Amino acid sequence: MGYFITKKVLCLLLVCLVLVGCGKAAASSAGNTDATEETQSDNAEITIETTTSATDGTEATTPEEEKAPVPVSFWNPICNEFISFFATTGGEAVGQVPKGATLGLLNWDGRYARVIYNDQVGYVYSNCLKPVDANYFTDMLKIVTPTTKYSYEQMQTDMKKLQALYPQLITISSIGKTEMNRDIPLMVVGNISAKYHILVQGAMHGREHFTAWLTMAMMDYILKHNMLPEDLCYHIIPMSNPDGVIISQTGKLEEEQMVVLDLDIEYGYTSGNNLTEYATQWKANALGVDINRNFIVGWIPSDERPEPSCQRYRGYAPFSTSEAQALRDYTTGRAFHATLSIHSHGSVLYYQYGTKEPVNRLSRSLAQTVQGVTGYVPTAYDNTTGAGYKDWVMEELGIPSLTVEIGSTTTPIVQQDIYNTFDRCRDMLPAVYKWLTKN
Ligand SMILES: [Zn+2]
Repeated sequence: MGYFITKKVLCLLLVCLVLVGCGKAAASSAGNTDATEETQSDNAEITIETTTSATDGTEATTPEEEKAPVPVSFWNPICNEFISFFATTGGEAVGQVPKGATLGLLNWDGRYARVIYNDQVGYVYSNCLKPVDANYFTDMLKIVTPTTKYSYEQMQTDMKKLQALYPQLITISSIGKTEMNRDIPLMVVGNISAKYHILVQGAMHGREHFTAWLTMAMMDYILKHNMLPEDLCYHIIPMSNPDGVIISQTGKLEEEQMVVLDLDIEYGYTSGNNLTEYATQWKANALGVDINRNFIVGWIPSDERPEPSCQRYRGYAPFSTSEAQALRDYTTGRAFHATLSIHSHGSVLYYQYGTKEPVNRLSRSLAQTVQGVTGYVPTAYDNTTGAGYKDWVMEELGIPSLTVEIGSTTTPIVQQDIYNTFDRCRDMLPAVYKWLTKN
């Protein structure tokens, strides 16, 4: 038991609600959504409904036969003294849940968690929850430990540790060098002669470095729980942009970035008054090129930022960056069955580029499968004109692919957002494999 709170308490909470009102303060969307792949969820229409929505299709209660849905795990609110409780996603809050309460998780849904609290089914913001189980991460992972600042060095150390644990399964190498001559590490997990090959790459944008942690954690989880089929091989590039990650994590600008800073000041993109913040928000590579706008499909010169910038500059030509070249060469070197690009944030899955078939239909189907596990919302297009990795892989190579925008409120991802993010994503890759075997 333990998670049912008395009705008296709920009534008190509802009174509180009426008195003080309730907003979305705990998890309101901050202004720094990944501008490359902006979420549309902020525009959700606000409606108030009293019916319970059954987004996963498993619940259909009738007045005659009311069966309480069974939670899959239990979670505590962590943001503030109270967090908002919603009847529907995108609606107004109908109550509040206190910090010490226990919520039964039914499923993740966009930026929300569908929960049962005090016999009521409703929604809370997913980034305000922490597992009740204090041993959650030690049960889930063997090597990788939770952090919001997963360094380049720590990632390499963890790769070696995983390899020492599973020497017959893991090979470590590099797909190439960054502009600052750092290796871009690759971890191949599984039999290289396997039937199915999935490529996963993260941290293409510097400030989205949590995606490198997540990618490594997903592999650790799969290996620890013996979830690697014999006919599958994962190709893991957790940090496609180590130089950019280091700029964001250290908050420090080197000579090359000072040149970019001067341009950004000149164009009015930054005042230059807070250099640590400027560096922390860095997305580009070390020379001020946005790698995810440096691929050839959809590339047009200077549609947004005409010169090197901390973000959104496409480069003087497609594949002008050593990082995009390395990704291109590795991706074309093998017949991949699916690719996933992990970015933050938005809690959405971008699955479309252009009109080619069957790749668009397949990517959409893949997005629906991944939604079933993560609760992230399939969305056709991002707000760019292309030149991203996924765009190129789909259009030119015809490989079903997704851009997975993890997280819901801020990038870099903050501590309170890591619990739901890992929990949603841990079974994502096994689901992609399952999908492959059926398509
Ligand atoms: Zn991104």
